Amino acid sequence: MRESSQPAAGAVIGFVGLGRMGEPMVRRLTGAGYQVRGYDAEPSIRARLSDVDGLTIVDGLAEVVRGAEATILMLPNSSAVRAVLLDDGLLDTLPSGVVLIDMGSSEPLVTRELSELAGKRDVSLLDAPVSGGVLGARHGTLTVMVGGPEDRLDACRTLLGVLGKQVLHVGPVGAGHALKALNNLLSATHLLVSSEALLAGRAFGLDPDVMLDAINGSSGRSGSTENKWPRFVLPGNYASGFGLRLMLKDMRIATELARASGLPSLLGEASVELWARAAEELPEDADHTEVVRWLEQHTDRRVR
Ligand code: NAD
Repeated sequence: MRESSQPAAGAVIGFVGLGRMGEPMVRRLTGAGYQVRGYDAEPSIRARLSDVDGLTIVDGLAEVVRGAEATILMLPNSSAVRAVLLDDGLLDTLPSGVVLIDMGSSEPLVTRELSELAGKRDVSLLDAPVSGGVLGARHGTLTVMVGGPEDRLDACRTLLGVLGKQVLHVGPVGAGHALKALNNLLSATHLLVSSEALLAGRAFGLDPDVMLDAINGSSGRSGSTENKWPRFVLPGNYASGFGLRLMLKDMRIATELARASGLPSLLGEASVELWARAAEELPEDADHTEVVRWLEQHTDRRVR
């Protein structure tokens, strides 16, 4: 959105990346009265969303930004963001003065580089990655970690408030992406170690529901014991909607960042190694919670 204007219901918003997160986010925005122009590289996704009220599906990137006060990217990684902005030319089509918001979990150093290029065209790039998953996207309860100039964030608060219950300014451009990666390194490592403990307890004869009740009232609790195990692991649906390879991408961004800072993350590196082995053995589209299934099989094999 342009300098000093606040987005209002009725404003046009461009949105690129209509996948597991992008779709529910777009539905929140249209539900709040925004006119969204959406694009995804995958034709079947464009076709599926063609009759959502308030959403105009367009066939190319040049069309997505037409009349848009702000454009949101919800893409898998920095390579896709770079491809969209530079190779496919989105940056060249953005009018000066608008805001571009990268809400995917991208690499902070690439984000800084892209922000400089955007700045040369008088386009402000904010990194605003989210935590809270597909359910949080659906209910508008995401936590949004924003990097970039605070005045530009202030101009987008109403818009981002439709998507998140917490919209936090966490530092200059790239800070949001750094913090999001660090958060996911914690989350992934919690999931692994919580699962090791719960599988060990089960092998000892303890009931997983009883263990979760006790742990969730005790100091060993985490998002994995409070949310992921009860919702996705115990029912065996492994349907969090967050891919295992996307989690591994975030973990690698975080360990790389730690290494570059001269404080390598010893436990984090070990965790990445295990998640990378799970990624090799599980199907391409595995949910990240399937790391527990992998751990179970791996433990069985070791026991035999
Ligand atoms: P997804 O793979 O479901 O969706 C990404 C979409 O981007 C796909 O539909 C794909 O077709 C599209 N795309 C890829 N390259 C493109 C290009 N060049 N041009 C246009 N469209 C392109 O992924 P997702 O789960 O929605 O995740 C998106 C981002 O959000 C990732 O960075 C992820 O790490 C992050 N994230 C995901 C979750 C989650 O629970 N799924 C939670 C928080 C953050």
